[in-house]
Amino acid sequence: MKKLIVLSACLILAFCQSGCVCISTGKHNEKHVEKESCSDWRPEHVIFVGFDGLCAKSIRDGADMPTLRDLMAKGSSTLESRTILPSSSACNWASIFMGSGIELHGYTTWGSKAPDLEPRVVNENGRYPDVFWQYHKKNPDAEIGYIFEWDGMDFLTDPAATDFRLNTKDCTTAAVQYIKEKKPNLCGVIYDQPDAVGHKDGWRSPEYMAKILELDNALKEIIAALDEAGILKESVVIVTSDHGGIDKGHGGMKMEEMQRPVVFYGKNVKKGYTIEESTVVYDLAATMAWLLDVEPPQVWTGRPIRSAFKTK
Ligand SMILES: [Zn+2]
Repeated sequence: MKKLIVLSACLILAFCQSGCVCISTGKHNEKHVEKESCSDWRPEHVIFVGFDGLCAKSIRDGADMPTLRDLMAKGSSTLESRTILPSSSACNWASIFMGSGIELHGYTTWGSKAPDLEPRVVNENGRYPDVFWQYHKKNPDAEIGYIFEWDGMDFLTDPAATDFRLNTKDCTTAAVQYIKEKKPNLCGVIYDQPDAVGHKDGWRSPEYMAKILELDNALKEIIAALDEAGILKESVVIVTSDHGGIDKGHGGMKMEEMQRPVVFYGKNVKKGYTIEESTVVYDLAATMAWLLDVEPPQVWTGRPIRSAFKTK
């Protein structure tokens, strides 16, 4: 009898120490995604918004981006996250989604459509593993979307992972509609701006600054769509870019070209927090995988940006 009481007490203590009872209701998303452990701090939705060529310096110098500034005030951010080199598009977007640098994934140039050097590993699809595939593999029922303006983006994530994949000149309309209809668990929305205006009129030119205000409005619409879909409280929104720029170009080693914003907003993101740790483009795949409770492949070198989140 005494043994039974001790055993019961131990069980009760163990239950209490576990700190939570893990029930995932799945009420927000049509495709129910099971959570494995006591991970209720994690979001059910990760929404990635990329602005090609948005330089950190424009924000530091006071760019009129009220929505982004609001997300920064209510979330966590850094204006010192760096590109890999060269500070060009495809190689950096690839690093963002593939969790490592060009030496491993092999997409080395601004417009690489396939690895230019032999990737260190390939997965069952013959591709270097990206965060979309890793998440899909773990949760085949998860709703995954990928909406992009520049056709070069199509080569940088695994089509087998995405339920919805669209190359469009109107990312905002497509994203708003998709979010409201499907309530995606993971969604990338990647704009081809302000890069195009930067190349034409110059980085931080009046035209460039006008364009980023326009993009800020697009961001506002995406946040509103998450709210309308009823999933904002269960979402983490990531806003970032692939590189900055100087004069009418980028690709080099100046900080104007290499420093990009990384902004996290949403469920369990620290409020008004400045990320002090060093971060590089490839840390974003690692962060998204961590948020989605996905084990990163060994070949990834990126590290989750844990400091931006409250995990207890
Ligand atoms: Zn770019």
